[in-house]
Amino acid sequence: MVDMDTLVSLCKRRGFIFQSSEIYGGINGFWDFGPVGIELKNRVKNSWWQRMVRVRDDVVGLDTSIIAHPQTWVASGHVASFNDPMVDCKACKHRFRADDIPKSAKGHPEGTCPECGGELTAAREFNLMFQTHVGATTDSASLAYLRPETCQSIFTQFKTVQIVSRKKIPFGIAQIGKAFRNEITPRNFIFRSREFEQMEMEFFCHPDESTKWFEYWVNERADWFRSLGIKPEKLRLRPHRHSELAHYAKACTDVEYEMPFGFSEMEGIADRSTYDLTQHMNTSGKDLTYYNDATKERFTPAVVETSVGVDRTCLAILADAYREEEVKGETRVIMGFAPHMAPIQVAVFPLSGKLSETAMNIHNDIKKNFASDFDDAGSIGKRYRRHDEIGTPYCVTYDFESGNDHAVTVRNRDTMAQDRIGVDKLVEYFNEKFKR
Ligand code: ATP
Repeated sequence: MVDMDTLVSLCKRRGFIFQSSEIYGGINGFWDFGPVGIELKNRVKNSWWQRMVRVRDDVVGLDTSIIAHPQTWVASGHVASFNDPMVDCKACKHRFRADDIPKSAKGHPEGTCPECGGELTAAREFNLMFQTHVGATTDSASLAYLRPETCQSIFTQFKTVQIVSRKKIPFGIAQIGKAFRNEITPRNFIFRSREFEQMEMEFFCHPDESTKWFEYWVNERADWFRSLGIKPEKLRLRPHRHSELAHYAKACTDVEYEMPFGFSEMEGIADRSTYDLTQHMNTSGKDLTYYNDATKERFTPAVVETSVGVDRTCLAILADAYREEEVKGETRVIMGFAPHMAPIQVAVFPLSGKLSETAMNIHNDIKKNFASDFDDAGSIGKRYRRHDEIGTPYCVTYDFESGNDHAVTVRNRDTMAQDRIGVDKLVEYFNEKFKR
């Protein structure tokens, strides 16, 4: 399995992901996606949206503001208790999540710093929401929060969306967007950062049917992860024990992936009962119940939530794709993405600068249908190596023969086998290769 340092360095070198604000020394817990990384991220988001919204008739989309009315976070419980207990080292001033202090140190009356052995403070609460102020004044009346999760606005807009979309229960509302948490110890690259993206879907159903829908969504979400082409043996479902559940939750199962640092949560699927809508009704005084015309029943819908991180999914795909091969005494590094998830699908190389113009025409044609990169710098060997590390499944070389036989060489990333393909057959060829 790839170690994190190797993966982080490849991600930087090839333009997947780099530290935010690097010229100023970076800022802890924030990352930027580069030209190749954003293509991967968009594939993840498009794949989720396609599966969760576009091909379904019972889920609609939404895009809400990052800053919501502050009462939202009172109702959700985040103002009162979105805390990670944390401890500070009195000697070296490092701050740790109390959870992260080894048990042996916790056994010590004061606790001992894992960094320097110094004395730790008692655990203190620390709210993870980022605060800001709306408008010109900076007082408690203007206080607002960057959302720590995307789902709360789905709950507050539930009634409006239900009416405008004319959906009957059961149905879901899906959203992709940024979320912010002032994590005490951001770590493991993009796994735990302070700004990240979530893809959340809240499925509203009759409370008597929530268990059925919960089971349905656990299977459906596990299937989606498998559809990304990652190794099935690295995925597992982890049902929460009763003691782990929030007081209102009836059930929760995480989808976990085996990262280089161990099995880790990618997604949580939860039967949240009627808690969320009830909280917002109590806090806002507005009616968010639903009336079923057929049964003449009015009820507060239960919610089954699916909540997955875009960044964590990208990290799983990146870690899963990395492999090394020995070829003629040299190490070949390959990002073996499933072709449909590869950030760049095709790269077009003119063998010599003199052939650039004609090769560029081919690239222009291919890019109408596929994510194509044109690369005419350096030796062909170097260009292949670069695209192996980007994970480009096919490289097209336009050579000195191409002008005569109107054909190009297509090299397969995984087998390194080369096919000679007529230029006018290329789109058809790739359609076949990328067919799902
Ligand atoms: P953790 O226990 O790892 O902090 P969580 O249980 O608090 O995660 P949720 O609140 O359930 O996470 O959020 C849903 C999803 O959002 C997570 O499964 C994860 O994919 C993503 N996520 C949450 N926090 C972060 C973060 N700090 N950085 C990146 N992704 C995150």
